Amino acid sequence: MSGLMTGKKGLIMGLANDKSLAWGIAKKLHEQGADMAFSYQGEALKKRVGPLAEQVGSDFLIECDVSDMEAMDTAFAQIEAKWGKLDFLVHAIGFSDKSELRGKYVDTSLDNFLMTMNISAYSLVAAAKRAAPLMKEGGSIVTLTYYGAEKVVPHYNVMGVAKAALETSVQYLANDLGPDNIRVNAISAGPIKTLAASGIGDFRYILKWNELNSPLRRNVTIEDVGGAGLYFCSDLSSGVTGETHHVDAGYHVVGMKQEDAPDI
Ligand code: NAD
Repeated sequence: MSGLMTGKKGLIMGLANDKSLAWGIAKKLHEQGADMAFSYQGEALKKRVGPLAEQVGSDFLIECDVSDMEAMDTAFAQIEAKWGKLDFLVHAIGFSDKSELRGKYVDTSLDNFLMTMNISAYSLVAAAKRAAPLMKEGGSIVTLTYYGAEKVVPHYNVMGVAKAALETSVQYLANDLGPDNIRVNAISAGPIKTLAASGIGDFRYILKWNELNSPLRRNVTIEDVGGAGLYFCSDLSSGVTGETHHVDAGYHVVGMKQEDAPDI
């Protein structure tokens, strides 16, 4: 297989199943010849991630809970031992206690605030720190974010605050790592039904609202996100860093309900 990603090796963090945004990205990267490793959290997920990795020609699986810094060290040491380099990193990880992804943000507990920030925002910093020394010829780091970082989306609550930290981290990381030709960008994806999204209160309403009110009058797919992931991981985006790029059917440019949208 040959293509845009031929000869490039990368780590995909955050694949859970074939609905995952990470899967949309991995498929596009595979079509273009990328070599990939997949990290997973815990044995239960290994059973799901293994067969998917196989579909895209990979048997390089790495166990890694991103809240455990020793596990992060081990994960990147495994990559160094096997490949000696890394060209791209996809960070598609977020987590919060779902009992706080409904109701009011003001009720967020300290424990869940810290856990959400740790897993959903700091983990990008921790991964970038470990990936950068392996990106000897430059590289690309891509993370996934959501509009709830920019504007209030009911129920998104503490995850919105963590995504704001994530997007700002993208800018600071881009500036830190730019001199080594390592680019750091975020894809702000529109709502897609995934395992993580199912924890968000009234998610079906969010999906319907976006479908009715976005300029393209539809929701995005993991294939839409995958195309943007390929752009960021490949040299096509060689001059782009520190960016939050919306793949949301244009929803973020709309200021109010569309005239033709029915009440839902
Ligand atoms: P998903 O459930 O398929 O993926 C989330 C992944 O995070 C899972 O693989 C899970 O194992 C991993 N994860 C959670 N805690 C972890 C930990 N401690 N250590 C290691 N891995 C951990 O859902 P998804 O929607 O594909 O989510 C991927 C990313 O996309 C997330 O950052 C999410 O916030 C973001 N995103 C999703 C949507 C959406 O509507 N689905 C929209 C915009 C952004």
